Amino acid sequence: MVKRLIKNILTMTAGTLGLSVIKRGEKKLIVLMYHRVMPVDDARYQREEPGMVVSDSTFAMHMQTLRDEKWPVMRVSDWLEQPETSRSPLTIAITFDDGWLDNYQYAFPVLKKFNFPSTLYVVTDFLGKPAPFWPNRVLSLLLADNVRMTDAWKPLLELIGQNISVPMSRDDAAKIIDDLKQYSDDAIYTALSHIPLSKNAAVEMISFEQLMDAKATMGVEIGCHTRRHYRLKEGLDSRLLHEEIIQAKTILEKQTGGPVTTFCFPNGDFSDDAYDMVKAHYSAAVTTRRGINSARNLNPHKLLRIGVHNDISNTPMKFKAKLSGLL
Ligand SMILES: [Zn+2]
Repeated sequence: MVKRLIKNILTMTAGTLGLSVIKRGEKKLIVLMYHRVMPVDDARYQREEPGMVVSDSTFAMHMQTLRDEKWPVMRVSDWLEQPETSRSPLTIAITFDDGWLDNYQYAFPVLKKFNFPSTLYVVTDFLGKPAPFWPNRVLSLLLADNVRMTDAWKPLLELIGQNISVPMSRDDAAKIIDDLKQYSDDAIYTALSHIPLSKNAAVEMISFEQLMDAKATMGVEIGCHTRRHYRLKEGLDSRLLHEEIIQAKTILEKQTGGPVTTFCFPNGDFSDDAYDMVKAHYSAAVTTRRGINSARNLNPHKLLRIGVHNDISNTPMKFKAKLSGLL
């Protein structure tokens, strides 16, 4: 009870005082980071990790809050191009990572209504596919109750390195996914490639046609989030680095017929080489580092963001407290 009271007071303080302090001094840019947006009763919502999703009604409330506060909403690239003197005290940019179909279904129509621009960072090889990220795939394999571990599982089981039986509990599956992170994405995807996708796996990523519609009619800028969502960590082979950063940009530009100038680091990871390559080929890049951008800390290729998900932002005050960067 007392704990909750203290928490509420902290939220109120951050959401009011904290934000008013932020609006003083140097001009600020808050880059919001969203992943998935959909109704709570959507089956996909139930399967997703809580940290990855906001409900459609929470998202609409966020947008209404931005409108009520009269903060300008602008794309990152447009803010960067503005001279410091013409910038507003506080500007908001809206970004979505990965290219989920639900963004097109539930978030973009809301943005269109508010006339807010945004940036969607897509993974080029995954357009129009079922959820292809390896943690999602491993999770669905380990949780499904009608799966048979055939010989095709051998390479994956070798990486897992222990005897398992499926289906297993969500917690046990989460532990296995955590353990698998010690291997390179390439090794994990190669192991998974032996196991055929279930025939009734629904498409969960935005298609090329939807992407073009979002660009043409919903104010969505297309940014690059690599070819296969490989973490661009130290030790990644230079051929793969080239494919993930440069080839992905070329593919996307060819497909969409326009320049692709902004990049998003998968998982927020980058080696020095990855950073240098991104800097040489893109005019801006976003990270998962939490914070607010201003002239004092501004690095256009390491932009800070504020991640929002449902549990921490489902009232206007909680949302504003989150924007303050203090909580
Ligand atoms: Zn991502």
